Amino acid sequence: MSDVARLAILLGLWVLFEETSHRIARLRIRLAAYGHVDMTSVWTFAAALILPPALTVLLCAVVLGYAWLRHERHSGMRAYRQVFGAAVVIASCLTARLVLNLFPAGFDGAGQAFQAVMAVGVAMLAYAAVNFVVLFVAIYLAVRPVKFSELLENRQDVTLEFATLCLGGLTALALATQPLLSVLVVPPLFVLQRSVLTKQLEIAATTDSKTGLLNAATWQHMAQRELARAHREHEAAALLIIDMDNFKLVNDTHGHLAGDYVLRAVADCLVQELRQYDAVGRFGGEEFVAMLPGVDELAAVGISERIRQQVQLLEVATAAQGQPPLTGLSASIGISCYPQHGVELEDLLHSADSALYAAKRAGRNRVMVCAHSV
Ligand code: GH3
Ligand code: MG
Ligand code: MG
Repeated sequence: MSDVARLAILLGLWVLFEETSHRIARLRIRLAAYGHVDMTSVWTFAAALILPPALTVLLCAVVLGYAWLRHERHSGMRAYRQVFGAAVVIASCLTARLVLNLFPAGFDGAGQAFQAVMAVGVAMLAYAAVNFVVLFVAIYLAVRPVKFSELLENRQDVTLEFATLCLGGLTALALATQPLLSVLVVPPLFVLQRSVLTKQLEIAATTDSKTGLLNAATWQHMAQRELARAHREHEAAALLIIDMDNFKLVNDTHGHLAGDYVLRAVADCLVQELRQYDAVGRFGGEEFVAMLPGVDELAAVGISERIRQQVQLLEVATAAQGQPPLTGLSASIGISCYPQHGVELEDLLHSADSALYAAKRAGRNRVMVCAHSV
């Protein structure tokens, strides 16, 4: 089969997939807080493996140009960013091709089975590595020094990218041996797209988009569960309400956007200071809540003190060019403990809230435990 015919089949499959899944893709873009991983690598990676470089570049230009016209443009993505993204994809494709050329037997059955697996695997790694390295450098230069681990934070994105590359490899193999079989890639791709949307919907429904913490409803649900467990296992549990001090002043002085950066930084600080299985949520405004299973009053005071001190040390970089980081923040924390300050979640919330108000009245930037027992 000629290269042009293979290109035509790849473009045909791409159109079929786009047409059957464009509503899901649009929802996914709307839900993504930042850039999302699309599924175009299936076609671009398959092209890199099976087509000559010139046709691969042509396919990338058509697929990514169309993606911008149809979806990204409406989500406010600037054209120059799409051009940059397309250039990265083309660089990834050409690198994968160069790497594949190191395996003279190729990947399509002419060589040994082991060599074929190696060829596709190494080409895939090369494709992903170029993407990753460019992304790392671009973010490093544009935003701030980033830690390697931060880029890998969203493991879901990484596995999705690998899944699409695997499907791309299989598509190329089908094109090289039984071209019509390549149509079988479309249904699994469609299901993959839909399952990613389901995950995104779940995250959107349970988290607070500004801080990444649990939203109030989900926190309440988790906290109820933890309390039920504490009751069953005769364990202690502590509830903290953390309220930023004079936060209105932060907004009035530095702007609402800077206030949002502070909320994000405080949320990160809470996640850092608490354990993975503590339920941490944003209750509303500049108020956070945490349910700490197995923590008694003494330990809760120690943990809260640590949080209070860490908030004081925060240096929050804002988007304002040339402005020094925002410092001098503080928070007041109210604590209630299960079972001495309440058995039901509502009672514990009331108790922690009254402790918080006592902390505010006493001058802010302090930790207070509920004064009354039940
Ligand atoms: P106090 O020390 O008594 O808690 O004073 P405060 O100023 O922190 O409390 P107050 O309840 O008077 O004001 C809360 C402020 O939080 C007012 C509101 O504009 C701000 N706020 C609420 N939600 C957000 C948000 O999502 N982003 C930003 N930037 N500000 C918010
Ligand atoms: Mg406040
Ligand atoms: Mg408040």
